Amino acid sequence: MNDNLLQIPATREKSRSRYGQPGRNSTEAGFKCAYCHGFVTTQSGLSGVGNRNHCPLCLWSRHLDLYAPGDRLSACKAPMQPVGLTIKATRKKYGPGRGELMLIHLCRECDKLSINRIAADDDPQTAFSIFEGSFQLDVGMHTSLDACGVRALDAADRDTVHVQLFGRKSDLAEMLFKSNVYELV
Ligand SMILES: [Zn+2]
Ligand SMILES: [Zn+2]
Repeated sequence: MNDNLLQIPATREKSRSRYGQPGRNSTEAGFKCAYCHGFVTTQSGLSGVGNRNHCPLCLWSRHLDLYAPGDRLSACKAPMQPVGLTIKATRKKYGPGRGELMLIHLCRECDKLSINRIAADDDPQTAFSIFEGSFQLDVGMHTSLDACGVRALDAADRDTVHVQLFGRKSDLAEMLFKSNVYELV
């Protein structure tokens, strides 16, 4: 898979980096998360996505790619903060597709924005917290996202996000009901 990261042009690309040398990570089996310091495996068998850039625990990423997903040519290498969620439209021949939930990442160093597929082993609770935190995104950030054609999901999308992260509502209700019953016994 090579489409897990939709590249959005950076406003400026740094030529030198404090975060290491470019192009040296393509064969590594993992990396240490720059934010929570957890070890992140890049083996696609576990995450279900190729070119894994972000940590499944805190969902922070690294600014690695320059021109195309997986090229690892960016000199920046700075941590990228998960700032919100968006839906990437899927192209369906008949009718609108449901679309895939994606993470929006912002580079803390150069302000580059990118959107990334949520991996199978990403923490859904963390993703939901990021979604709720994104309701406070400032006007400047919304302007930058608009310029990239990305719409950050907001409170009106809460149900959609919940279903995509945690499953159907009925499943959740059933699960909560069962857990309540268990507590009463
Ligand atoms: Zn992390
Ligand atoms: Zn950057």
